[in-house]
Amino acid sequence: MRPYILAETTWKTIKDQKIELAILPWGATEAHNLHMPFATDNILTEKVAIESAKSAWDKGAKVVVLPTIPFGVNTGQLDIRLNINMNPSTQFAILNDVTDVLNRHEIYKFLIVNGHGGNDFKQIIRELGFKYPKMFICGCNWYQSFENSQFFENSGGHADEMETSLMQFLAQEMVLPLNEKWAWAERKWTQVTSDTGIGNPFKSTSEKGEKCFNEIVKKVGTLMFELSKADVNNMYE
Ligand SMILES: [Zn+2]
Repeated sequence: MRPYILAETTWKTIKDQKIELAILPWGATEAHNLHMPFATDNILTEKVAIESAKSAWDKGAKVVVLPTIPFGVNTGQLDIRLNINMNPSTQFAILNDVTDVLNRHEIYKFLIVNGHGGNDFKQIIRELGFKYPKMFICGCNWYQSFENSQFFENSGGHADEMETSLMQFLAQEMVLPLNEKWAWAERKWTQVTSDTGIGNPFKSTSEKGEKCFNEIVKKVGTLMFELSKADVNNMYE
């Protein structure tokens, strides 16, 4: 049992544990080309949140990762079968309830780790900050924490070389092999989802995924550590 993951922790541990920062991973359930699962954003975001939390915890930050929210805003892809859209107003309701619990238990620092481009928490965070003045709430998009061209040849943004390489490194058993047939599938996919980001995944490798993942964990882990130790009444000196 890892004490920085709520889902693995018992009441015995949590009841007296000092917690400085709560972390909520947020993904999406959506098609990821023909070679990766619908849970791709959830799998990657949870791994990023947990490994980053571990690195912050190991340096002495008291963090806790909450269970991943698996549905994101997919209003632009409603024609794709079983992309599960969650409207921004529903996301507000969920975040409001989670924030209320944290606030009651005097855990005033709250980080949303987002892994899906359709999710945008800015306005929600503004409104929650207004409602819960003691809370310091912030969000980060882990997929923007590094320079894509530093690790990958092709950019894209959805089921692309970056996402595929990370999945090959972190969840190889859930990625179908890429072969020439995908070239045809790729073009068709573009027609169906011309409004979402896309990229060529052919150059993906697990080694690229590992290097990129280490960089993400370094960045996000540092953010978590700094948030944990920050004085929220004195953030902008
Ligand atoms: Zn994705």
